[in-house]
Order: sequence, then structure tokens, then C-alpha cells
Amino acid sequence: MDKTDVLIIGGGAVGVCAAYYLREAGYRVMLVDRGEIGSGASHGNMGLVVPSHSVPLAAPGVVTQGLKWMFRPDSPFYIKPRLDPALIRWLWAFWKASKEDRMRRAIPLIRDLSLQSLTLFSRLDELEGVEFDYHRRGVLALYRTPEGMEEGEEELRLLSSYGLEIDELTPDGLADALPGLELNAQGGLHFRQDAHLTPGKFVRSLAAYLERHGVDVRTGTEVTGFTKEKGRITIAHTTRGDVAAGEVVLTAGSWSAALGRLAGVSLPIQPAKGYSVTIRRPAAWPEQPFMLSESRVAVTPMGDTLRIGGTLELAGMDRSINRRRVAAILDAVPRYLPSFDIGAHEIVETWCGLRPCTPDGLPFLGRVPVIPNLIVAAGHAMIGVSLGPVTGKLVRQILAGERTDIKLDLLAVDRFAA
Ligand SMILES: Cc1cc2nc3c(=O)[nH]c(=O)nc-3n(C[C@H](O)[C@H](O)[C@H](O)COP(=O)(O)OP(=O)(O)OC[C@H]3O[C@@H](n4cnc5c(N)ncnc54)[C@H](O)[C@@H]3O)c2cc1C
Repeated sequence: MDKTDVLIIGGGAVGVCAAYYLREAGYRVMLVDRGEIGSGASHGNMGLVVPSHSVPLAAPGVVTQGLKWMFRPDSPFYIKPRLDPALIRWLWAFWKASKEDRMRRAIPLIRDLSLQSLTLFSRLDELEGVEFDYHRRGVLALYRTPEGMEEGEEELRLLSSYGLEIDELTPDGLADALPGLELNAQGGLHFRQDAHLTPGKFVRSLAAYLERHGVDVRTGTEVTGFTKEKGRITIAHTTRGDVAAGEVVLTAGSWSAALGRLAGVSLPIQPAKGYSVTIRRPAAWPEQPFMLSESRVAVTPMGDTLRIGGTLELAGMDRSINRRRVAAILDAVPRYLPSFDIGAHEIVETWCGLRPCTPDGLPFLGRVPVIPNLIVAAGHAMIGVSLGPVTGKLVRQILAGERTDIKLDLLAVDRFAA
């Protein structure tokens, strides 16, 4: 039987980062994925590293806005109507978490995690052979309507009060920031601390680096169950044989709920599907990502491609591509960029991925009290790439029994236990 100090389940942004920091600390690490590295949500996402997204998904007003959008199949948010007890429990917990005081407790934590990740990304970018088109130029938000601009100004006030660096831009300021693009916007914001990267390249080149440095990376290897003794996991059963592991780290994104059930721990994570369309990068396109705010669509340059993506759809573990929703994303573009004809550019990929969402918009990060050698690092929702490096580093600190750089009480794995 194969043996390892640490078995990491799931080769997305969180899993590869955990493997990196554990390997750096001298542990013998095996990283398994049932598909390829990055075959979950970590390949085709928008690649934004975003301290500006420090407001959790569960926030006041989100439920009301969501209800308005819910049943419109081309809106930025959609719930597939169904009687699923896990979804109903999750929605109830989400509603309870969407309160001002809980949001305000979460903001400084997400901010600190994101800011640490930015620093860690800069170091990972210097590793030999690890390349992921990392740029620190901030992210712009474009607003087309007075109501949108008002919402933006509210966000500016909220996030600035937590020390985040944001500039308000006039249409001229936006034109300077996005040279060569004809814009239809009333104004915008520049979230100066944000960054962007090519996420698929990030996870794959870091995994290749790990393999070169002694991590046992096994793709096409699905974990199907666990054997426990005295409450601890002793063996993980996989489609390629059993693995005896001293410690297990669960980083399987949206699949973590099912794996948690196999191990005997409840992890209320709902998958929230989003889509992206990647095209060849138009000539002279500026190296500046931006959001089409009212439509909740992001546009990110990535090397020689340009990616456009968005929507949040609670439709269960379903990875089928709904063409109508993809069309709704693309339809938003000419409303902000009237002379940009997407159809004139070659499509490289149309993709969908499942964001792993907890009811309060905060990830699970910590040991499972009833299974002391199991650490969960999952449920990063819209910001799993952003928080990948800091999560990986914290996993190492948790595993080593060190004091963590950041206080993690709000991320406790059993916080929704009745
Ligand atoms: C449209 C869209 C845009 C987004 N934009 C951004 C963005 O700009 N910035 C940002 O920070 N985040 C963004 N996100 C969110 C981000 O993609 C996720 O939060 C992140 O990828 C989650 O990473 P993960 O490692 O937790 O999970 P995943 O990347 O989903 O990885 C989980 C892995 O576990 C594997 N696995 C599952 N079951 C098993 C098993 N039984 N055995 C072995 N392996 C298993 C899967 O194959 C998968 O590779 C976006 C998401 C979407 C959908």
C-alpha cells in the first residue's frame, strides 16, 4: 500500500497551494485529483485576485436582489427550482448569515486573507518555471447607469472604511485607463490593490513545479472512501489503490460536501455554477481587467487571450453548459463596449465551473473536531483563486500545530453544526 505523511484530495488552486507550503515545510505530500490538475473550478475562472471582493456573498440586500433575479433564466443569478432538503437548509442558513453584523465581522478577515495572498502570489511568481501572467494593476468597475454608479459609491464608502484603496473615475479617467476601447459608462471605480492572472496556468505550472520537487501528484485518481480507526482516518481508498496517510487535507471544492459525508462530517457547500468564454485577444487590448458591474460580468486579459465570464446559478452538481446563460453574458458586452464585436474573434473555449459556496460566504478552514487528522480547506465561493496561497500557508500552520498568522475562528469547520 502507498504511504504518505499528508494526502491532499483535490488539485485545484487550494490543493496545489496547500501542497506547495506543506512540501516547503518538509512533509512528504501526495496530491490526488480524480481528473486533471485544475479540472474543477480552478481552470476557466476569471483569474482575479481581489481584496475588493472582501464583502462576503451573504450580505444585506443580496437576498432581496436574488429574489428579483431568481426566476429569470437570463439574469446574473438563478436558482433551479427544486425540492432538495440540503439546498433548502443552505438557503435558510444563507438568509440568517446575510445580516449587517455578520457581514461586518467577515469583511476584515477576507480583506486580510486576500492581502496576504497578494504578497504570496508575488513570491510564487518568482519560482523557477512557474508562470501565470501575473499583473498587479488593479481591477476597474464600469457603471453604465446612475443606479449602478450609486451602488458603486456605496461600495466605495464601505470598502474604504476598511482601508482598501479605491479611486473613483470619471468617464475620462476610465478612457485613460482603458486606451483604445470605446466605452459606454457613467463612471467607474479602480480597485488599486487587485491583481489578475491566468488561473489554469497557475495551477498547472505550480503542480508541475511540485512534481519536480518531490510531491507525488496523481491525476485520474478518485478518492472513493475512507477507513477510520478510533476516529482517525487511516486509509483513503482510491480508484488507483489504497493510500495510508498520517494527515488528510480535503481541498475538493464543490465535491467536498460528498467527500465529507464519506468521512463522516457535514459540510454544507452548494455548487454555484458560472460560465466563461475565452477568445483570442483582440489587437492592442489593454492589460487591464474590468467588470461590467450592473451585469455582474468580468472581462480579464490572460496572455494572448481575453476571457469574459459571470453568472451564479444554484443548480446542483450539474456541469452542463446552458447556452442561454452564456449568451446573456456575451450580450452584456456591447452595452458597455458598443463597438466591440465579440463574434469577430475566434472562441478558444466555452467553460463552466462550480464555485463551492458555504451559507455565510466564508470558507471552511481548520481541523474537523471529530476526525482529528482531517483538515478541511474548501468553500471559497467566488474567491478561491484569490485565497489559494494564503489558504495553503494556513493549512501548513494548522497541520504543524503552529499559531496561525490570521485568527480563524470564523472559518471553523463545525460552525453550522446544530
Ligand atoms: C465563472 C467563474 C469565475 C470565477 N472567477 C474567480 C476570480 O476571478 N477570482 C477568484 O479568486 N475566484 C474565482 N472563481 C472561484 C474559483 O474558481 C473557485 O473558488 C476556486 O477555483 C475553488 O478552488 P478549489 O481548489 O477549492 O476547488 P476546484 O478548483 O473545484 O478543485 C477541486 C478539485 O477536486 C477534485 N476532486 C473532486 N472530487 C474528488 C475525489 N473524490 N477524489 C479526488 N479529487 C477530487 C476535482 O476534480 C477538482 O479538480 C470563479 C468561479 C467561476 C465559476
